[in-house]
Amino acid sequence: MPKKKSTKKTKNKKSSSKAKAKTTWPAGERNIFYRPNRLKYVRKMIKEDGCVFCRSAEIEMSAETLCVYKSKHSQIVLNKYPYNNGHLLVLPLIHSGNLLDLSIDQYNDLQSTLRIAIEAIQDVYQPHGFNIGMNHGATGGAGIPDHLHYHIIPRWNGDLNFLPLVADVKLVIETVETTYQKYADYFQKRSL
Ligand SMILES: [Zn+2]
Repeated sequence: MPKKKSTKKTKNKKSSSKAKAKTTWPAGERNIFYRPNRLKYVRKMIKEDGCVFCRSAEIEMSAETLCVYKSKHSQIVLNKYPYNNGHLLVLPLIHSGNLLDLSIDQYNDLQSTLRIAIEAIQDVYQPHGFNIGMNHGATGGAGIPDHLHYHIIPRWNGDLNFLPLVADVKLVIETVETTYQKYADYFQKRSL
């Protein structure tokens, strides 16, 4: 007779790290990137909790806000729900959902910061390619439509992370804490 398999073993593994990961980020941002129909849900959460990007702009860089770099007008923040290891967001410090509302200085600074983020990913992760882009406005599918943010996603030959486009599946090996530490070290060295 075949033996019965026990499947209960690994059930409690994740519970201890969950409390530590609690931050001001709204849950479900990853889904919204691909499923704009869930926007209302996220917007409601943003109203209750305030804008995570503005909070990050206001306080010092830390693992709580996932901010790893600030320039005069912009910042680089980890995506708490990465589509791939090393996924970064580049955004203006000011709360705006419209690129055309930025001053020339703010806009140029944002583009320079985008370049810095790409350099950081290149140095830390050595990907084979990138996805670089922005969902502009709620209709464009932005997860946080009121605060502009570029996504910069490192890609490797053979990675399967476009699965989220067709299924609710993704492969992310690294914890956000590990990614944060890598970038924090990188930007610390860079500032020396
Ligand atoms: Zn904001």
